[in-house]
Amino acid sequence: MSGDRNEDEDDVAWVSFSSAGYGSAEDDPWDDVVPVENPDSDLDWYDDSPIDEDPSTQWDAPPCPAPLGVAHLIRIGCCNHCLYRLAGKKTKNSGSLGGEELRKQAIESNSDLQEIESMDHCPTCEDLMDDVNNISEIISDACQGIDFKTMQIGVHIPKDLMEEEDAVRSRYGAPGSSPLKATFVEEIQATLQAGSTDIEFVKERPDIMILIDTLTLRVEVDVRPVFIYGRYIKNTREIPQTRWPCRSCRGRKGGCEACESSGLQYPDSVQDLIGRPLVTGMGAFDTAFHGMGREDIDVRCLGEGRPFVLEVKSPRSRSPELADYESIISSTSDGRVEVNSLRFSDRKEVARIKQTRSEKTYTIRFKTKEPIDKEKAKSLILSLSGEIVEQQTPKRVSHRRADKNRKRRIISVDEVSSEGEEIEVTLRCEAGTYIKELIHSDEGRTNPSVAGVLETACEVIWLDVENVHAD
Ligand SMILES: [Zn+2]
Ligand SMILES: [Zn+2]
Repeated sequence: MSGDRNEDEDDVAWVSFSSAGYGSAEDDPWDDVVPVENPDSDLDWYDDSPIDEDPSTQWDAPPCPAPLGVAHLIRIGCCNHCLYRLAGKKTKNSGSLGGEELRKQAIESNSDLQEIESMDHCPTCEDLMDDVNNISEIISDACQGIDFKTMQIGVHIPKDLMEEEDAVRSRYGAPGSSPLKATFVEEIQATLQAGSTDIEFVKERPDIMILIDTLTLRVEVDVRPVFIYGRYIKNTREIPQTRWPCRSCRGRKGGCEACESSGLQYPDSVQDLIGRPLVTGMGAFDTAFHGMGREDIDVRCLGEGRPFVLEVKSPRSRSPELADYESIISSTSDGRVEVNSLRFSDRKEVARIKQTRSEKTYTIRFKTKEPIDKEKAKSLILSLSGEIVEQQTPKRVSHRRADKNRKRRIISVDEVSSEGEEIEVTLRCEAGTYIKELIHSDEGRTNPSVAGVLETACEVIWLDVENVHAD
């Protein structure tokens, strides 16, 4: 309803990618730092490993940087990229040019190696390293027009290639050789950076996440949400805080007759009156709204307003002039909703906002069933100041809340006034007090109550949240 998802702080991205069909814990596209194992001395060099099918390569090669180790990598058909990353030798150039140098040197001292040049595929990358430029271009294109500073790259490499690469690297690679995945990511980062100098690559909380599937060369771009903190004032008794799906069609796409195809029970909400201008301005996809509690539709929220965090999803621009939006929101909503204190926030604050339980000041107007002496009524209501009330779960919410008894303090009764048959009370209560029930007593389920001390039935006419005492 409010778009709350059961997301765990930073884990969100990992979850969304693993649900996108990529791997499990053992096949983690972000796991680009694989510890390098020492060559395993227990391994039998003459076992039936697929890399040694050609009898001419079945010889006891030591690991790199020994020249025989480098020669072995050339024999099994390593590409220049892989030669460079596995050989563990200093070269003038890096990457594939460095590998080319090493190959020349090796051939100079052993001309037999000359003939090995035309292998079909590099066994340690399956020529993946040749795709670096291609993939970098796909990424650049996909990011056109998207405003971001930080990027995180994840790579999915088929398991059998990973295993084969790992076997060759741990057996013949120099100690500390860079694994395929890490090299691949580094090369892509270097290529992207050469094209646009202001990308910063990070390991967490990026603005934009790239996931590369090396099998299909598919690139997925995930623009991370922008979080905006603020406080809202709701000046109307007609809109809910968050979008409500239509009761008839349950908000299905395209809606129904009852909701005039909107899919919404109420055409407007605080969420949309704040979110729509920002979605438009930031070229975003949608919003999720996280309020510090909520008020009923027919309750206004005044004073300094209620704290919230708006999550703006997949924005093309990440840095709106927030100060401008305070007046934009007020005017596009015809004054029904106003916001203040806007600033950029993060997912952590969503948790804080959700967990904070704050005291509130309310003004309630109600009328009594029987006429009552105004002065007497006033002193009886003031006597509730500082009292602890016991509230059994109200009937109106009992279908969705567990039935239990809770104790809440009326911190203060600040003002009581009357007008004809109607009485108005301003009071401050502990977080979680059911305020309408405090007035009418919910058939005795709230005790003490205003109806109880006045010894007559009370009917709530309206209610305002005067202030949320938080932040
Ligand atoms: Zn290779
Ligand atoms: Zn509908």
